[in-house]
Amino acid sequence: MSRPTTDPRPILKEGAVYWADGGRRICRACAGMSALYTGRDISGQRVERVTLADVREWPADLGPLCCESRCTTLTAVAGPDGWPMPKGGAR
Ligand SMILES: [Zn+2]
Repeated sequence: MSRPTTDPRPILKEGAVYWADGGRRICRACAGMSALYTGRDISGQRVERVTLADVREWPADLGPLCCESRCTTLTAVAGPDGWPMPKGGAR
């Protein structure tokens, strides 16, 4: 049992938004299988999680920072883990 196995667990976190290729924003639901499981999009580019600073610096006239399909929207409020809270994700 010492051989490393290919772990099929998704890398991307639920309720998070990531920067993908060319400044595109993706969430777990919109990310392709490649980004979801490898952390890299189909062009091989690493996807970077959107930080609280990103949300705070996001121009207000663009509306809330969310994924391109608007299924996940982030707020400038830090969650318990220090990352931006998804909108409506407050408990
Ligand atoms: Zn999405």
